[in-house]
Amino acid sequence: MIRFIIGIFLLQSLCLANNPLKIFISVDMEGIGGIGTGAMTRSNGKDYNLGRKLMTAEVNAVVSAIINYNNDAEILVNDSHGDMQNLNHQDLDPRVVYIQGNIKPFGMVQGLDNSFDAAIFLGYHARAGTARGFLAHTGSGAVKGLWLNGVEVGEGGLNAFYAGEMGVPVILASGDDVFTDQFRKLVKCELVTTKSAVTAQVAKLKHGTIVSLELSDATVRAIKKIKNRKPIKLTNPVEIKLQFSTPAHAEILQAIPKMEWLDGYTVKYDAKNMVEAYALIRLMYKYVKP
Ligand SMILES: [Zn+2]
Repeated sequence: MIRFIIGIFLLQSLCLANNPLKIFISVDMEGIGGIGTGAMTRSNGKDYNLGRKLMTAEVNAVVSAIINYNNDAEILVNDSHGDMQNLNHQDLDPRVVYIQGNIKPFGMVQGLDNSFDAAIFLGYHARAGTARGFLAHTGSGAVKGLWLNGVEVGEGGLNAFYAGEMGVPVILASGDDVFTDQFRKLVKCELVTTKSAVTAQVAKLKHGTIVSLELSDATVRAIKKIKNRKPIKLTNPVEIKLQFSTPAHAEILQAIPKMEWLDGYTVKYDAKNMVEAYALIRLMYKYVKP
């Protein structure tokens, strides 16, 4: 009997050891270490190619740390900035699968589903309207504010709630100090502050190699705590309140059935869950252009 119990125990341990981790990585650009100007995040801007290199290096640091810990880990990397064609694929760790391009309904969380063990957000920034937040915005310049069930969120919060709907916890996030301060109020996870925002357009930088080392260490800590991390989930239905910078935007969205007009700049919609909410929010700020 004892031998039988030990056998079951060994089998279980073996299964756990061999159970490959499945990790989703969403990588934005404004919060990457070593990027200190808006120009570096735009394809026609000065030093954009350096920005791409720094972004790719941060992803590689995290990927190496995951795979060193769990040899068979499956990793999906979703390019999440601008036209979503920023990582240098040739320099990206070949052990990942990479989603490129931005015509996708779930944008920064495209590909994330309930089969993943955890999500990691790299290179993120503070939400629209946050004082001093380096290149802070939410989705696009059209948005002044976004609330889900009354909770104000930026891209980090929106994506964390989407992951929560899928039952997936965010275990690590990185960005400038204003982002990390904001994100820690919503999500309990490992955080790496890649730089300090001086103004919305100026950052005080650490060298990229230092940031990559910090990310690597934080990834190991994050994976060790994976079982203790909880997804953050909203109750359904999800009330969306979206405030735009121009009244024309809110006005034209009245064409969508059940879209309410709260004031000249703000619309409200009750979505059945975060999946419906996410695709609709993306449609409203990105594809509707008055
Ligand atoms: Zn971005």
